[in-house]
Parts: sequence; structure tokens; C-alpha cells
Amino acid sequence: MENDKLIIEKVVVNGQEQICLKGTIDEDTDFSSLLKENGPMVLNLSGVTGINSLGIRGWVNFWKEQAGKKVFYVECPPVIVRQMSMIPSFTGTAEVVSVFAPYICDHCETEELVLVRSDEFSATPPQIKETFSCSKCQAGEMELDGGPNQYFAFRKK
Ligand SMILES: [Zn+2]
Repeated sequence: MENDKLIIEKVVVNGQEQICLKGTIDEDTDFSSLLKENGPMVLNLSGVTGINSLGIRGWVNFWKEQAGKKVFYVECPPVIVRQMSMIPSFTGTAEVVSVFAPYICDHCETEELVLVRSDEFSATPPQIKETFSCSKCQAGEMELDGGPNQYFAFRKK
């Protein structure tokens, strides 16, 4: 896993600066480059491929100390969303802008990630596609893995 260490880099998307995190968050992850940021931070988490228990602890502690900063999470992958739903302090004071929802075909088990924005997942019930036809096998229906109530449990009550 040596070459899957977390990389933190800045990109500009549609004129907006985003901080992209790519790779695995673990006990060796160094978040200190984020301390230089003064303004609101837009964290694009789409490249995060894994997080272990020590990575979760490091993440939660880091953001606890940064509680005064404005932070946005965009394009959260399922590996991050599952932590947000299980551990409320994982999100801390950050605002979740968009997340990827994992759909699985009930026929061929193809997986597809669908981006869901906060105005969609914050609605009650979440305004998401319940099912859609699988474009690969053309026979099955794509369904949200685990169901919406479980997947979107991170939503602020
Ligand atoms: Zn299919």
C-alpha cells in the first residue's frame, strides 16, 4: 500500500479552488498542509480510496481543532459517506455539498456511482432515483446499495 499514500493537491474547477484528497487515509496521513488555508476550504474527496480506524481518528481530531474554519465536502465517495453516517463527529462542522450514491444492478451486479447534491439528499425522503435500468445488461434494475435511509443517515436532523 506504499504508493497509495494520501496526496493533497489544489485544482481549480469551474473557477472554484478545490483541495483534492487522493488515496488512503491512515496513521501516516499528514494533514498539516491544510493548516495554511485561511479562507473557506472546499475539499474534494472523490479520490479517497480507503480509510482505516487510525485514519478516522486522525481525521476527527484534526477537524476538531479546526472547528472555527468553514469547510465544505464535495463529491464524497461511499467509503467516506459510510464513515459520516456511522460517526457524527467525522463530519464535524463541515457542510456536505455532494456525495456519490452507489447503485448496484440486481441482475449483473454492475456498480454505478450517482452524484447527489445536498438539496436532493436533504429532502425528506431524499429526492433520489429509486431505481433505473442498467445500461450494461439492459435487463436489470439499478438500486441504491443498502437503501436511502441507511446510506444518507449522516444528514443533519
Ligand atoms: Zn445489469
